[in-house]
Amino acid sequence: MEFLSQRARAIQASITLSITAKAKAMKAQGLPVLDFSVGEPDFHTPEPIKGAAINAIREGFTKYTAAGGIPELKEAIARKYEKELGLIFSPPQILVSNGGKHALHNVLQALLDPGDEVVIPSPYWLSYPDMVSLSGGRPVILNTRMEDGYKIEIDALRRALNSKTKALLLNSPSNPTGAVYTADELKAVASVVESSKALVISDDVYEKFVYDGGTFVNILSVAPQLCNRVVIINSASKTYAMPGWRIGYALGPASLITAATRIQGQATSCAGSISQKALTFALHMEPETVEFFRQSFEARRNLMMNGLEGIRGISIHRPAGAFYLFADVSALIAATHGIAGSVDFCTHLLERHHMACVPGKAFGDDRCIRFSFVADENDIREGVNRLRLLGSN
Ligand code: PLP
Repeated sequence: MEFLSQRARAIQASITLSITAKAKAMKAQGLPVLDFSVGEPDFHTPEPIKGAAINAIREGFTKYTAAGGIPELKEAIARKYEKELGLIFSPPQILVSNGGKHALHNVLQALLDPGDEVVIPSPYWLSYPDMVSLSGGRPVILNTRMEDGYKIEIDALRRALNSKTKALLLNSPSNPTGAVYTADELKAVASVVESSKALVISDDVYEKFVYDGGTFVNILSVAPQLCNRVVIINSASKTYAMPGWRIGYALGPASLITAATRIQGQATSCAGSISQKALTFALHMEPETVEFFRQSFEARRNLMMNGLEGIRGISIHRPAGAFYLFADVSALIAATHGIAGSVDFCTHLLERHHMACVPGKAFGDDRCIRFSFVADENDIREGVNRLRLLGSN
């Protein structure tokens, strides 16, 4: 251990790792484990996208590319933003990376000096605080409440921003809560941000998965005056069922994106050439396939939500997007002998009830657990039955 850097020591081991490992081992033994811990679509990457990648390999598109991405992909990304959101980006404002997470890492590396603060609304995607720390910044957690739909309370945001704040991290639709910000809510956030020096990092990787007829809004659409202060993170992982292809991107002010591109150039040279071709193709596809995914997730959200509603000891704010359901199970935890928090409770659910869920502690709320509704419909029904029994004990 003595040879490890302080940076390496400061990064926490994933608290979900042991539960996922145990769930895998139990499945391997043939136990009927219902897996509600999955963070990726259960669809395969659409065949035409695979075909585009195979063509790229056959045509010998297998060399290094420009550090920030191939021009045709940058053009396709710019075209998507203009067409879908009316936002204009030029190639120097676009960085293609090995996944949305890598794009975010490059941006944080380019942005943060020691002591700089990044405000992270909680519950948060579990990687954010460690990613900020890894880049030398200080994560500042801004709690939100289920009663407020897990949205930022504007006065609390105002209090959280100070001269050290470099950025506010927004994630709508949210992992883990499924909260989706409306245009008016984003306007209110923008007006507070405007009076500070902070940037907004908008993690939009779930943008295509919004339910109940709602629409996805990016803060730039309602606050164009922030055009030099917003960074967008996006990815192919969720939208096109391509998590293993490791391809995502960042859009933002040219000076920041150029710096993040330099950092990427020295770290990984570029994103994979074949994945870049595949994403270029995907961005030109008609929207039907992604809409089919969305409808499938919405149907499963409804199934799980309807099942869990009314179970004693479980309370949930209906997720309006993404593919997770974040449930307050504090009453069940309190009623279970020898169980002290969400990690223990998830271990108990796995060992006794053969259900794999992610403890809320990983997302900043130890009263809750996260269910992914990217699961087989029969598994969802069976999981709901097991929880109903648990709630009635
Ligand atoms: N942002 C959020 C909120 C996520 O949930 C994830 C993945 O789970 C990512 C970013 C990163 O996705 P990727 O690196 O696969 O593009």
